[in-house]
Amino acid sequence: MAPNARLDHRNPLVFDTHELGRRPGALQRLSRTVDAPKDLGLQGVVGVPEGAPVELELRLESVMEGVLVTGTARAQAEGECVRCLEPLQLDVEAEFQEMFSYPDADERGRVTADPDDDAEDDEDRLFLEDGLFDLEPVLRDAVVLALPMQPVCQDDCPGLCSECGARLADDPDHHHDAVDIRWAALQGLAGSLEDGEKDEMSGADAEAGVDEKQEK
Ligand SMILES: [Zn+2]
Ligand SMILES: [Zn+2]
Repeated sequence: MAPNARLDHRNPLVFDTHELGRRPGALQRLSRTVDAPKDLGLQGVVGVPEGAPVELELRLESVMEGVLVTGTARAQAEGECVRCLEPLQLDVEAEFQEMFSYPDADERGRVTADPDDDAEDDEDRLFLEDGLFDLEPVLRDAVVLALPMQPVCQDDCPGLCSECGARLADDPDHHHDAVDIRWAALQGLAGSLEDGEKDEMSGADAEAGVDEKQEK
């Protein structure tokens, strides 16, 4: 895999490992609050709005083949309840761990770490570039994993009324009388009878014709 596109140390999601050094075992802890990048979450379902604060706590550990990054991200996500469609907010806490390898230590590090490592795994590897690494793809994967695929406003959200679409949590006693529906049907029938008998036959013929076509 080619190194990432040139990293910009001014990007808040790009971290510098120079201070950590390359002595295996060296540790560094970092806290940083960054603006959420675009599309941080499950698109169209729930996610952290672009620009919202994301609190990062990172632990950088220098190892033979690179820098092992372990961390936590905390943010508030926004979405919509899948049952009642009300807007909702939820706290996300995402944990992650990722190895950023030294490009020049690639071969040696790989052999030491796992002799059976294959090319497929290699493509997923992330590399340090001039001692910098980009946390964004790691953060994105971790946040997506931490978010619910089916967010609900409350665990027992009863959803919407199938008859009229009212939000049942707002109106627990909500119901429709079956009698009302029958009356409505009768009233509809009475209305169509009033339309006149001469239309009735032609209407029935037309319907039968449509039915035949659909069956073929
Ligand atoms: Zn709901
Ligand atoms: Zn209803």
